[in-house]
Amino acid sequence: MLIPKKANVVIIGGGIIGCSVAYHLGKLGWKDIVLLERKQLTCGTTWHAAGLIAQLRATKNMTRLAKYSQELYQKLEDETGLSTGFKRNGSITVALTNERMEELKRSAAMGRSFGVEIDEISSREILEKYPNLNIDDVVGGLWLPKDGQADPVNITQALAKGARNYGVQIIEGVKATDIDKNNNKVKGVMTSEGYIECEYIVNAGGMWAHEIGKKAGVAVPLHACEHFYIVTEKIKDLKLNLPVLRVPDESSYYKEDAGKILLGCFELKSKPWGMDGISENFEFDTLADDFDHFQPILEKAIKRLGYLETAGIHTFFNGPESFTADNRYLLGEAPELKKFFVAAGFNSVGIQSAGGAGMVLADWMDKGNSQMDLWDVDIRRVQPFQNNRKYLRDRVTETLGLLYADHFPYRQVETSRNVRLSPIHNQLKKLGACFGETSGWERANWFLTETEIKKEILPKYNYSWKRQNWFENSAEEHRAIREKVGLIDMSSFGKIKIVGKDAEDVLQMIAANDVAIEPGKIVYTQFLNETGCIESDVTITRLSLDEFLVVTPTDTVQKDLHWIRGHIPDNANAYAIDVTASEAVILIMGPDARNFLQPIIPQDLTNKNFPFSTMQEIDIGHTKARAHRVSYVGELGWELYISTDMSNHVFDELIKRSNDYSIKYCGLHAMDSCRIEKAYRHFGHDISNEDNVLEAGLGFVVKENKPSTKFGSMIGKNAIIKKKNEGLNKRLLQFRLRDPEPLLYHNEPILRDGDIVGYITSGNYGHHLKGAIGLGYITCREKEESSISILKSDYQIDVAGNIIDADASFKALYDPKSAKVKI
Ligand SMILES: Cc1cc2nc3c(=O)[nH]c(=O)nc-3n(C[C@H](O)[C@H](O)[C@H](O)COP(=O)(O)OP(=O)(O)OC[C@H]3O[C@@H](n4cnc5c(N)ncnc54)[C@H](O)[C@@H]3O)c2cc1C
Repeated sequence: MLIPKKANVVIIGGGIIGCSVAYHLGKLGWKDIVLLERKQLTCGTTWHAAGLIAQLRATKNMTRLAKYSQELYQKLEDETGLSTGFKRNGSITVALTNERMEELKRSAAMGRSFGVEIDEISSREILEKYPNLNIDDVVGGLWLPKDGQADPVNITQALAKGARNYGVQIIEGVKATDIDKNNNKVKGVMTSEGYIECEYIVNAGGMWAHEIGKKAGVAVPLHACEHFYIVTEKIKDLKLNLPVLRVPDESSYYKEDAGKILLGCFELKSKPWGMDGISENFEFDTLADDFDHFQPILEKAIKRLGYLETAGIHTFFNGPESFTADNRYLLGEAPELKKFFVAAGFNSVGIQSAGGAGMVLADWMDKGNSQMDLWDVDIRRVQPFQNNRKYLRDRVTETLGLLYADHFPYRQVETSRNVRLSPIHNQLKKLGACFGETSGWERANWFLTETEIKKEILPKYNYSWKRQNWFENSAEEHRAIREKVGLIDMSSFGKIKIVGKDAEDVLQMIAANDVAIEPGKIVYTQFLNETGCIESDVTITRLSLDEFLVVTPTDTVQKDLHWIRGHIPDNANAYAIDVTASEAVILIMGPDARNFLQPIIPQDLTNKNFPFSTMQEIDIGHTKARAHRVSYVGELGWELYISTDMSNHVFDELIKRSNDYSIKYCGLHAMDSCRIEKAYRHFGHDISNEDNVLEAGLGFVVKENKPSTKFGSMIGKNAIIKKKNEGLNKRLLQFRLRDPEPLLYHNEPILRDGDIVGYITSGNYGHHLKGAIGLGYITCREKEESSISILKSDYQIDVAGNIIDADASFKALYDPKSAKVKI
């Protein structure tokens, strides 16, 4: 086989994803692209997919990408002459419980704000669209007329043909065997037919992507699972062109094709596959039948569609697909290796995602940074430890089923838990903490009351769309923070040290705020990209002249490290190091925080000697720690940073003090409800790389006129100046529902004078403000500069189809002047 010696891009993998990336890079005008497929195109997972193509996904941008895929699959035939088999037969999702119906109603509301055509329908209407369906226990459902189905092999072949037309070289029968790199940058690919020197590599290796990643030193945490469906023989008199039917409460989906029914499942406990590696010969392989595993699904399906009882089974299919730890795919430049891009781990939605994922990845490579908020699927959310095979194997037994499980708010994973523990974890456990998991960390989300502990009640979630069992526990914690004092363990905070004699200059360039501060001072800042949008939301503490500490949310450490390291000039004396695990962080927050701490800390905690936004080294117990006077809850308080080895000692001192001056142990849910009352933004929800910092209402942090450094001026400076001249197109507002009953989570549509103008980006209950609180952007009317005209309108929020009146505000509804944090 003749292969080129040199290429600009080598794409590894000829499934639907690799072909989509190749097509989109070609379309952008990129040259010298080679796609390598070890056997034949589609021979991995793509060839046997069911071909369901849905529009609505869990977030706005994932929905945009799914819609793009659909439109592309419709158009490809005109462009390439190859049909993708796409047909728009619509889809129905039915609910068998009231809780599921609430989820569907919320999805429908979300769909409306994302521009997806979606209707809530009754069981009778469902029956009209899907004759013979047993609707005895059906509560209701959703109808998406624009959903459809297609043929995965044909889509891939059409994408490949389109790519070839753009000059992409697609080579089958050649395996990438190793990755060559130089100074953390891609250098080339070793293949079964020789070496290809290249600038970029795209790992689109499907379930092989984990191993390909390992050769590059890049974590691609995914693991294959067995995935099942059956196809019946032709069913007599079956209505043709039936919509796709999903019955998530029975973990099943149905697709009619040529008079046969394909019945597939997302069972709650799935079977991991490929623990001993994947055979070298794997090519259009299927896995062994497991009828016992499929039987419970089939039994329910027969009750749902009586004719299945007598329908002959033409095919029992079992094939592998890769799943990830959080059921979201992995996309983007790997933080470990420059110009090594990943597009893998598609959790059984790879066909409907391929068009959009290929388009945005190509664009990301083209522009050097993603232009869209792709944080949901950004590979930089991955924690290095998650590449552990056993962790993945245990987790994916749960991930597959999550696609159809009830998507309750605050739902926690149950597998591969207790991996990453705060040093005071066991102490918190004894105090009744109920833990939730984020990026592997176990974090106390709420605490049992003393009475519950005495009654030996277990700290456990009872999920619901309404108030969950911990609502009152968290409300009490919230009130303690607002009225007295609370303790929160935030050891999971990401911590990055930037050291070196050029650290200040480098950070002046990367950060929007002015970080040329005295040691001991703290600034709140964003890292902006060239468009003035937000890449990170952090605090920076100057520890000494050449040492800064960046504190970032738990899940953004790898992303921030990647961003910082990517912007440290080659000639700068500055290094970024992840020091997250080196220190525990205990927050003492509330109006009584000073009274609580002062007797056990010799340093003077008065406002005069220890003002807001400063840090001091303190003595506590028999050791030292750092106290940072900042707040994410909007109250007086200190964050204590304690060397991990001494954190239990400090915690014991705090417990001892609580015998004289009571303090409440509080969880992350209370911290979040406090932060939303104070309208503090949350990265990944309220602010992202698509949100301009000025439109996010954070202009007060941006110091675009600060002096340039020897490495250049602040990133995003020109965009900020331009935006200030041109005016804002959208504005972030805080909303409070006037009816104290309904709850906000996120994605609820915002109505301004009756029209949808945006959606809630994050929501929680304001126990002090006595109503659900949400943040969300509204699109400004033409030339609407004035905050006054925006606030003059009437606002309502659509909560699961109920239109609720809301107050809107630019300033935080709680303590708008921020007097409380500064007392
Ligand atoms: C039963 C089943 C039903 C499904 N139904 C749907 C559905 O209805 N809708 C939907 O959206 N999704 C569905 N999916 C999921 C979908 O099929 C996958 O998400 C998608 O096919 C993944 O595509 P891929 O390109 O990432 O992987 P693959 O198709 O596996 O492609 C990866 C390719 O990389 C090649 N490769 C690997 N290593 C190397 C190497 N070293 N060198 C060169 N080449 C290499 C492999 O040979 C393979 O061809 C289903 C999956 C299954 C199993």
